[in-house]
Amino acid sequence: MSDQQQHLFETEPAAWELDDQTMGRVATVVFANGPDGQFDYLVPDRLASVLEPGHRVQVPFGRGRQVRIGYCVAVETRALGPRALKEIQKPVDEQCLLSDSMLELTGWMAERYLCRWGQVLEAVLPAGVRGQAGTRQVTFLSVAEPAAADAKLPAKQAHALAVLAAAPQALTPGELAKEAGCTQAPITALRKKGLVVASVQRVRNAPAETIAPSREEALQLDTHQQTALDAICGAFHSGKHATILVHGVTGSGKTEVYMQAIREMIGFGRQAIVLVPEISLTPQTRQRFRRRFDRVAVLHSHLTDAERAWHWEQIARGQVEVVVGARSAIFAPTPNLGLIVLDEEHESSFKQSEAPRYHARDVAVRRAQTENIPLVLGSATPSLESWQHAVAGDYQLVSMPHRVAGRPLPDVATIDLKSEEHARGPRGAITRPLQAAMRAALADGGQVILLLNRRGFSTHIQCPACGNVVQCPECEIALTHHRQQQLAMCHYCDYHIPPPVVCPDCKFSGIRYSGLGTQKLEQEVRARFPDEACLRMDTDSMRKAGSHEQALESFRQGQVRILVGTQMIAKGLDFPNVTLVGVINADTALHLPDFRAAERTFQLVTQVAGRTGRGEKGGRVLVQTFNPDHLAIQAAVRHNYARFADAELPTRQTHGYPPFAAMLRVVVRGPAEQTVRGFAEHLADQIRHACGRQQTTVRILGPAAAPIPKLRGKFRFHFQLQSPMAEPLRAAVHQATAGIQAPDGVQWIADVDPLDML
Ligand code: ADP
Ligand code: ZN
Repeated sequence: MSDQQQHLFETEPAAWELDDQTMGRVATVVFANGPDGQFDYLVPDRLASVLEPGHRVQVPFGRGRQVRIGYCVAVETRALGPRALKEIQKPVDEQCLLSDSMLELTGWMAERYLCRWGQVLEAVLPAGVRGQAGTRQVTFLSVAEPAAADAKLPAKQAHALAVLAAAPQALTPGELAKEAGCTQAPITALRKKGLVVASVQRVRNAPAETIAPSREEALQLDTHQQTALDAICGAFHSGKHATILVHGVTGSGKTEVYMQAIREMIGFGRQAIVLVPEISLTPQTRQRFRRRFDRVAVLHSHLTDAERAWHWEQIARGQVEVVVGARSAIFAPTPNLGLIVLDEEHESSFKQSEAPRYHARDVAVRRAQTENIPLVLGSATPSLESWQHAVAGDYQLVSMPHRVAGRPLPDVATIDLKSEEHARGPRGAITRPLQAAMRAALADGGQVILLLNRRGFSTHIQCPACGNVVQCPECEIALTHHRQQQLAMCHYCDYHIPPPVVCPDCKFSGIRYSGLGTQKLEQEVRARFPDEACLRMDTDSMRKAGSHEQALESFRQGQVRILVGTQMIAKGLDFPNVTLVGVINADTALHLPDFRAAERTFQLVTQVAGRTGRGEKGGRVLVQTFNPDHLAIQAAVRHNYARFADAELPTRQTHGYPPFAAMLRVVVRGPAEQTVRGFAEHLADQIRHACGRQQTTVRILGPAAAPIPKLRGKFRFHFQLQSPMAEPLRAAVHQATAGIQAPDGVQWIADVDPLDML
């Protein structure tokens, strides 16, 4: 076909051609599960004025005419083709649940993260909103029009009718009975006579009011804080989008800056969204915002569906000034957003680990761009992705290099675990210098935090006779001994057995428990400091809702002076009386097969160091490590982010890793190893060909067994795709995998910009 001919066929029909075609309202519908793709439905006349994009709809599907619920994402009037369209049956919700901008954002996410639009919509709308949680049907009465003034009514009915007529709004039967001082009988009689009409509406139960804390005034900012605030407000008033990276050391007063910026937006009738890691949504954080602003919605994970739905509705009505929440709060339906803040922007919890595998930071950038508002990213240890954007000039960089009120950063020193002196020291996890520092800090009335990023008691159980390590049969991962629960547990699945006393393989009775977990560390602390209360915080000790808050409260009040924990305690806590932080082993994350291992280590050590020296007494940090000369440790010890970034970025560039290239990871899993491997190879081939066709440069690493080769009984293979061009890479993967059929029992995922490399 010549170019011209093709052109002929593809032109839109001219107006005269349309004349004898039937025009109709057509709705585009997507589904969260089941059929993939976008489907056209006819909007019947009775729904023409009701149905808008953003409604959920009930539609027939397939030959069997099964009924499905889908999302209407577009409606347009157009010429109907020869093929008859099925009709939308009805909208599911009275109100439209999604605004145009939310539809646009979710559509973008579907493309960006290679997942279905319907699935994104389902993830964005809280379950409670979809399920109308916390709502009930209520009957409202009003006087019939035209009001029939019937003089012959019995006295009680006449009175009830008069009360209803005088009421400023519709009343429920119960309310009317109460106001008129009668029973239901006269009201029922009025309804029967048609003098009073009833309508049924769905109303939402309001959750119990929380007591508003006492108000707090804005603090006087120091110069760096003021510069940061000016940058944010300047961007806001320019009416254009800008991303501002606030690189502020721990305790530099970033939160104060955010709050004052939000105050400014609110003055212009706008709302703000503040995203923080879930773990930071402590009562302390909530109170901090509630003390400043009248109408704050805190969206934390312990909300019931009904509470979440209630907040959602309040937000959508513009009744909330500030939304504070974790990852998914980026979808808060604020009608007139003025600012988005993403605090601790380097935190990996901003990335969702199941589909849609979005990163809240990227979604925030997109949302801020479309709404023409500033986005503030804050961190003491920015992700190298954001840092590189700042270096390249895409983001505006604001530095807050000092702590507020002239407080110094803590003094950090390393303790070399290789050195003989310590090897000869008392057995255990706490070296002599660390123990001495703990004694000194406690004697001085201070508090101590010890970080160990491994939970459990012993991290492996091994037979010295045959070398067998007791493993999870499902995941082939060493079991961890949890002494408190009396179990040997797998940390990847829920497999657990009673701790073996003899080797399960050779029956040797001297089986050895070794490796250090937080439970063992806690025991060591109790043995070394018998007069001190010691508290352990990890996912084992913090299972119950509220236990996290209770634990922190007892530490805040000083009933407990030694806190032991995993990374859970490394972030965001502000306890002025902590004068010593000990890192038991800084190397736990350093040798993981993950190109971000050094970055993670640097972040963890810097963040935990930031928990001390926040009060007048100052503070110090001791880092135990086998690698005191490692760049990540050295830079953290010197509080030198730039040094770390300057050394790490060239390495990333050399190997084509983010932030210099786009990355996509494909993981395949299934019960039969050969089938999984075979399908992974097939997928990789298809993608390689698609990239070739599109002349997209791509580097494919693998397929190979994933670092966690088996999980919950399923074998796992993965491969990584790296390309300097993000869009073509995604397009190629999309094209190569559209309609691909995995063998029975085999599942696969594509993770765009993966953070989890295991
Ligand atoms: P960051 O978020 O950077 O870690 P915060 O905003 O939590 O820092 O501030 C640390 C502490 O300093 C808080 O207790 C806060 O109330 C206090 N603070 C912040 N700004 C000022 C200021 N300008 N003057 C005095 N204290 C301040
Ligand atoms: Zn397991």
